[in-house]
Amino acid sequence: MNNTYTKIVLKSGKDQSLKRFHPWVFSGAVKKIYGTVSEGDIVSVYSNQDEFLGLGHYQIGSIAVRVFSFTEVNPDRDFWKSKLEEAYRLRAALGLTDSQQTNVYRLVHAEGDGMPGLIIDIYNGTAVMQMHSIGMFQIRMQLAEILKEIMGDKLKAVFDKSSKTIPFKAGIEATDGFILGESSPEMVTENGLHFNVDWVEGQKTGFFIDQRDNRQLLSQYSKDRDVLNMFCYTGGFSFYAMKGGARSVHSVDSSGKAIDLTRENVELNYPDDKRHEAIVADAFDFLKDIKDKYDLIVLDPPAFAKHREALGHALQGYKRINAKAFEQIRPGGILFTFSCSQVVSKEKFREAVFSGAAIAGRTVRILHQMTQPADHPVSIYHPEGEYLKGLVLYVE
Ligand code: SAH
Repeated sequence: MNNTYTKIVLKSGKDQSLKRFHPWVFSGAVKKIYGTVSEGDIVSVYSNQDEFLGLGHYQIGSIAVRVFSFTEVNPDRDFWKSKLEEAYRLRAALGLTDSQQTNVYRLVHAEGDGMPGLIIDIYNGTAVMQMHSIGMFQIRMQLAEILKEIMGDKLKAVFDKSSKTIPFKAGIEATDGFILGESSPEMVTENGLHFNVDWVEGQKTGFFIDQRDNRQLLSQYSKDRDVLNMFCYTGGFSFYAMKGGARSVHSVDSSGKAIDLTRENVELNYPDDKRHEAIVADAFDFLKDIKDKYDLIVLDPPAFAKHREALGHALQGYKRINAKAFEQIRPGGILFTFSCSQVVSKEKFREAVFSGAAIAGRTVRILHQMTQPADHPVSIYHPEGEYLKGLVLYVE
């Protein structure tokens, strides 16, 4: 097929990763752009030997092209419809599209679903879309309409929450809001537990859906334990710990708003339960003085490194914070520790936690290695998509 998109030719040798289906073209790999191109345009990418490599969305920045097809297709409405149908089929196969127990899930996980730059989360029938590229932002209405066709009555509304995630340099003054139908923030259910979601004000699309399986695992370890949920945000780990029979649960976050959300969500599930206490505090201050107070600690900090340049600093952060927990957890304690920084690899994170354990001088064993759930799939050709890493550790 001879398409008419602006042609981008890569430098010699820079075609290898695309030939292995890695979907990013870094700006440094571009040899020549034939013609004019604006942010969000579809471009066709060729090797220096003039072989077709892929079609993608162009963007100004370190990732110049996000490839959505490695074959010469016509990226029309039918093309996007078949991509979204495939994403929906996978979630149906995971038992997520018709579940009474869990009505919140990720429907599109960017590169993991062959749609770089696009996130769609479903909150009991409301789709919250978050675009990270101008190309996806420009076709958001089309995507929303297709979603309605696929989901029918199961889709009440589509909310666009891209104002903070699309590249600001593009000069698009995006505002968040409903682009199809309307709904109001409401209570949703995950593994039979309830929480309120505020996709307008909340972080990410409103809730950290990616910890679903790990929260479930935590509840299995909570019986008769005194639990500290550090960086609790909306309190997800806290009410799972209570479900698991925790003796006490302390939820800590530096944001007063997060603590209010946590209190509200705990109350939804366990009204007037005296086992729970929510505290506004800075993690590093709070962790100074908890000697032998807890026998289950969750550390789920925000991404310490958002960029590669911040990697060294981030690893120090993970080491320090884990050392504090190792030093003070009761003998026989369990630590659930996470990193959600995409630039921190599984190996690097494990090394940082290892260093923390060595500083504390405790005997530590790995019980589980955690990651994101199956509705956040990782393309085997795009290992960066595996951003959530966690370890469950037994501390003697
Ligand atoms: N565990 C949560 C997600 C954590 S998001 C869940 O399962 O939903 C990270 C949280 O860390 C945010 O709520 C943020 O307010 C909080 N935070 C960031 N810096 C902090 C600090 N220095 N001390 C305590 N909390 C902090």
